[in-house]
Amino acid sequence: MPDSHILVINAGSSSIKTALFDDHLTEVLRVEATGVGGTGTMKIGATARTADLPDNAAALAAIFDALSQQGIAVTSLRAAAHRVVHGGITLTAPCRITPEIRQAIADCIPLAPLHNPHHLAAIDAVAALAPDLPQCASFDTAFHATIPDIARRYALPDRADLTDLQRYGFHGTSYAALVRALPQQSITLPKRLLACHLGNGASLCAILDGQSVATTMGYSPLSGLTMGTRVGEIDAGAVLRLVRQLGLDETETLLHHQSGLLGLSGISSDMRSLENSTSPNARFAIDHFCYWAGRQAGSMIAAMGGLDAVAFTGGIGENSEPIRNGILDKLSWMGNFPSYTVAAQEEIQIAREASALLNA
Ligand code: ADP
Repeated sequence: MPDSHILVINAGSSSIKTALFDDHLTEVLRVEATGVGGTGTMKIGATARTADLPDNAAALAAIFDALSQQGIAVTSLRAAAHRVVHGGITLTAPCRITPEIRQAIADCIPLAPLHNPHHLAAIDAVAALAPDLPQCASFDTAFHATIPDIARRYALPDRADLTDLQRYGFHGTSYAALVRALPQQSITLPKRLLACHLGNGASLCAILDGQSVATTMGYSPLSGLTMGTRVGEIDAGAVLRLVRQLGLDETETLLHHQSGLLGLSGISSDMRSLENSTSPNARFAIDHFCYWAGRQAGSMIAAMGGLDAVAFTGGIGENSEPIRNGILDKLSWMGNFPSYTVAAQEEIQIAREASALLNA
């Protein structure tokens, strides 16, 4: 019976995705529950079946059942390691989940109302199913704790009730993994690295000497680049007008779920579908994506005082040469610099961080 597997858990609004890593931190199995909140789908490795998944607790119980059927007893796991989107001001490094840390994650709910409640539900469900199993958390925001105040603060009044309104940045686990991955690909870590995580969510990060000094996402994962369904950079005045016009809930839905590539193209949020489309609107959405990535890259380059290399990761960054070239084309004014492609490694990075905590 394995006793050194780490189960990485990424709990979202309607899905729980897990990846199991062995004691060499090799991924051995993926189990995913999607359509949580009703009749959903359980995917165990390559096999899928429908399942009744009324809530996160039921989905986790089904995942644990599936693991047992594969010979992995939950009581024999070394740890459950959670991806947590927001760690706020205080949670700036991976940690073991104690009652205090659980509370601190709960305290960050106002900062990430669409994410942290689902992580907490998963943490609580694991605690109920396997009370003795150590649980760890890795935060999407943590890698950006090194961003200096000048890049972090909005020009808001210095008031106690506004201190948590600042630029946090996200995709930190992916950027941390990228910094680690380049030397493993025999690439000396460039001093001034423009890192581009381009997936359904997309951001850029200015990485100076291995540390984040600026990133395009801010208070929430809504800002910065044009994304699959998120609007990216938008004037706060326009948001105020939308709230007056549509109300808060509809504005939230519009900006998070109906904008970006989907909103511009009217066809799809999926880059591959847009690349395969002959519609002028699909072309415009792709051009908008590349233009704004290139334009905001200029801001990241200024934050680092120049550029030594670019690295792409995420579903689009890894797989779409036309998009990479579209963005690099916008940076041709920078002269010559190398560009690398790195597979996104968020899950293994979370497993690695949990393993380090357990070994400490
Ligand atoms: P998430 O941010 O949800 O983790 P991914 O990192 O998997 O998403 O990225 C999903 C995006 O990657 C989608 O827009 C998808 O179309 C795009 N993508 C994946 N493969 C390709 C490809 N071969 N060419 C272009 N885009 C691709």
